[in-house]
This record gives sequence, structure tokens and C-alpha cells, in this order.
Amino acid sequence: METPQLSFTLGYWVFCFCFVLTPNEFRSAGLTVQNLFSSWLGSEHLGFVQYHIRRSSVTLLVHSAMPLGYYLGMCVAAPELLSKPLLEVEDGWHIVLLVALSLHIGSWTLVGYWSLWKWENHPISLTLQRHTPAAPSGWGALASRLNTEFRAVDKFTAGIHGARVIVTDSWVLKVNTYSVSMALQSQCQLSVVQSRQHHFSADSASPTQVLTLRVDSTNPGARPFHFRLHSTEYADLRDKLRAPIRNEANVAIYRSISDVFLDTFRAHLQDNPPYSLPSGQELEPCIGCMQAPANIKLVKLCELEDSGVQDGGHQDGDCQRCMCRPMWCVSCMGRWFASRQDQQRPETWLRSRVPCPTCRARFCILDVCVVHSPS
Ligand SMILES: [Zn+2]
Ligand SMILES: [Zn+2]
Ligand SMILES: [Zn+2]
Repeated sequence: METPQLSFTLGYWVFCFCFVLTPNEFRSAGLTVQNLFSSWLGSEHLGFVQYHIRRSSVTLLVHSAMPLGYYLGMCVAAPELLSKPLLEVEDGWHIVLLVALSLHIGSWTLVGYWSLWKWENHPISLTLQRHTPAAPSGWGALASRLNTEFRAVDKFTAGIHGARVIVTDSWVLKVNTYSVSMALQSQCQLSVVQSRQHHFSADSASPTQVLTLRVDSTNPGARPFHFRLHSTEYADLRDKLRAPIRNEANVAIYRSISDVFLDTFRAHLQDNPPYSLPSGQELEPCIGCMQAPANIKLVKLCELEDSGVQDGGHQDGDCQRCMCRPMWCVSCMGRWFASRQDQQRPETWLRSRVPCPTCRARFCILDVCVVHSPS
């Protein structure tokens, strides 16, 4: 392939890839199906079901037009290759054109079929019909009840545009690219099946735990579906949900950034040298929680690491020596450390210094040592 063709091919498919996955840059530039066709799609707020029937159909048509767009673009980018009469064009390109055309025509046929009888054949309508088995023709009434529930201000929504989860008074919904998964709250059960944690680090701005939940419905017509959720949104989901949630994977759910931080804090302490308790001294209970033994000692260890970077001397930012005996447990010290941080900038947490809760000497995470009793 020659250069203009290659650059067009690369550029075109990267654009298409981003258009389908819609990263934040594309969303803020308005390059989404929802935005480009907003006048025809109407308002999601006023008619949730009708809006998504139209949105999923348009999305399918636009996405299926991409290979055809590539062929037409190639006619411009490589006129010497494709501007001959159709029969003289090289063989491979015939196949590209054939596949692109049939994909697009196939999509138009499918959308045409869906739209018959007031969109009765669309997958969203079919799902609603499966939820009114006694009178499938009554799905319109069910749809308008869903629309009304969606307008309520107290619904729960989470997730990004491509995979949004909505919980209304009686439904659990997930908006997918080409459809909407649905389950009635009265018929479903949720399970936490997986957890992925993004650890605290200096370059990740959002340390979070992402939970994967599965929705199973007792209605045989409703297929199970999965959705993902930040653990900090879990409490709101619980509030809105009447269906039971099982924790199949026994996942520890961190409900706030501080909880996620505590895990990272513990992991970092493993790298610090342990502090051996002088003989004769015993671990007292932590004065924060009165439950766990006080097994944290602050020892100024960080100067070795910092000496090359900072210009020495006792600047305000330097760590200081703490003479306190062990008085706090790992969890309480971690929570204290997290509570003294800029809550809006979690990426700074690991690097910052906070005062000792007892004597106010400043310390950093490198100075926190776990106490090993001599016994
Ligand atoms: Zn404690
Ligand atoms: Zn102290
Ligand atoms: Zn330090």
C-alpha cells in the first residue's frame, strides 16, 4: 500500500474505533451518535423507551456504514486504484465493497423490520413484551410506566455513556450500545461477581475499586446481564435497590476513597523495615479503636531517600522525629493519614506529610513502621 492510502486507512479506522468506543475527548467534542442525531432522537428524559429504540437503531446504521465509508474514502485517497470502471478494479476491492454493502444493507433491512408495527419487533420492545407475558400487546403501557419512573429525580444512575446503569423504582436497566438490558426489581437478584482495584499511585488520579455485578431475573425472558460500578457508588445503589444483592466472590467493598487508600497504605508498610519493640515493653490496645493492638511506630527513615532531592536543613516540608510509643493500629493510622489529605487530589496522598496524631511531628509514609514484638 502506498503512503496516502496507508495514512487514510490508519486514520479512518482509528477514528472509527474511537467513535464506537467514544472516549472522553470524543464526548466533549460532541462526536457521539446521541449528539449528532439529537434532533431526531428526541429527549431521553421525556420518553426513555422511544429514545433508546431510536438511538440503538441509528447507532447500528451509523456503525454499519463505516466499512462503506472506508471504501468511498479510498476512492478519493487512491483514485488510481478505484476510479476505474467497477469491473476493472482489483479483486480484493470487489470483496471489500461487497462486504461493506451487504453489511450496511443488512442493517437497513433489520432496522426496517424492527420499525414495522410501531417498532414492535425492536429488541427493547421484545424485552418489554416478555415482561408482560399475559398480554404482550400491553407492552406500550409498561413502556410508559417505565418512562414515568425514569423521569423521577430519585433514580440511581452510574457508569459511562456506553454502559450506563439505571435503577428506578421497579426496574434495573443497563444501556448498551445497541440495546437496553432490563430486569424488574421484583423478579431479579444481583450478585457481586468480581472486583478490580486501581491502586493509589502518584500518577493515577482516581484510585478506585470497580465492582462487576450480575443481574439474574426469574423471568425466563430476561437475559442475565453484567454491569460495572465504582465501589463508592455501591451504597447509593443499595439504597435504591429492593432486590437482594449477594456477594458471591466475597469481595471486600470499599465504600470511600479512604477505604481504598487503607489497602494501599497497608501494602506500602510491608516495604518499610519493621520496628522491634524493646524487651520488657508490651503492645497496648490502639487508642483510636481500643480493639486492635497499637502496632505502629513512627521512625524517621525518609531522610536517606530525600537528601539528594531536597537541600537539607529543617524546612517546613521535612519530616520530624516522633518520640511517641506505639499508640495506634495500622487501620487507625491509615485513616488518620487519609483524613489529613486533600480529598480532591488523591494522586498527592502517597507523597504528602501529615502530623503525628499525638505529638504533631510531621511524618511521611516511609516513616510508618509496623511493630514486631520480641516474643
Ligand atoms: Zn485502631
Ligand atoms: Zn508522635
Ligand atoms: Zn518522612
